[in-house]
Amino acid sequence: MDHRPHIVVVEDEAAQRQLLVDYLAKQSFRVSGADGGPALRKLLERELPTLVLLDVGLPGEDGFALARWLRERSGRIGIIMVTAATDTVDRVVGLETGADDYISKPFEPRELLARVKSVLRRTSGTATNSGPRVRMGRRVLDLEKRVLVDPADGSEETLAASELDLLKVFAENPNRPLNRDWLLEVTAHREMEAFDRAIDLRITRLRRKIEVDPAHPDAIRTVRGVGYMFVPPKD
Ligand code: CA
Repeated sequence: MDHRPHIVVVEDEAAQRQLLVDYLAKQSFRVSGADGGPALRKLLERELPTLVLLDVGLPGEDGFALARWLRERSGRIGIIMVTAATDTVDRVVGLETGADDYISKPFEPRELLARVKSVLRRTSGTATNSGPRVRMGRRVLDLEKRVLVDPADGSEETLAASELDLLKVFAENPNRPLNRDWLLEVTAHREMEAFDRAIDLRITRLRRKIEVDPAHPDAIRTVRGVGYMFVPPKD
């Protein structure tokens, strides 16, 4: 089995696509090319790529729509949007789609490589470092026992399924703004959460459990116009 990170380059211009595929393949990545949404969807039927380089200007479904679709599939896929100088990119729209980063055409291959590596560090770091225990604010989430541990005295607090689901998603996506609708979608399968507000209420409850000061949350931050972001403790 090939364990190299798998990057998919989605670009409708064949010459440009081939250039990127060749360049990244030389950097010891496994690389596939896709000329648009249908080809990308077909690739994903076989496996989840590690990272997708997504051209914004595509015929049919544009890059933003595809980014949103990818994010619904997985919080772990790294997404870098490639924008043309003529695209006006609204940062909030970008964050809402769940992209991790942007790069504008024309760009230096080395700049692209730096961005790719930085996104891969973020996305794969979560898989290798988080393990079954994740520090969140003043508590530690034990994913195996499904409890919050207080490191001060070792006491454990059992979590409701809906709370555990949400904390798990945060633990898997540190330092990434997560869209509220997306959070609701990926965590609502166990219970019928009829209202949007359910996410906010769960966040409020969780903040009381993990934040040093729930009135000024530091571990689960609010990202205006988007949703929430988990920020792991610094030390
Ligand atoms: Ca294009």
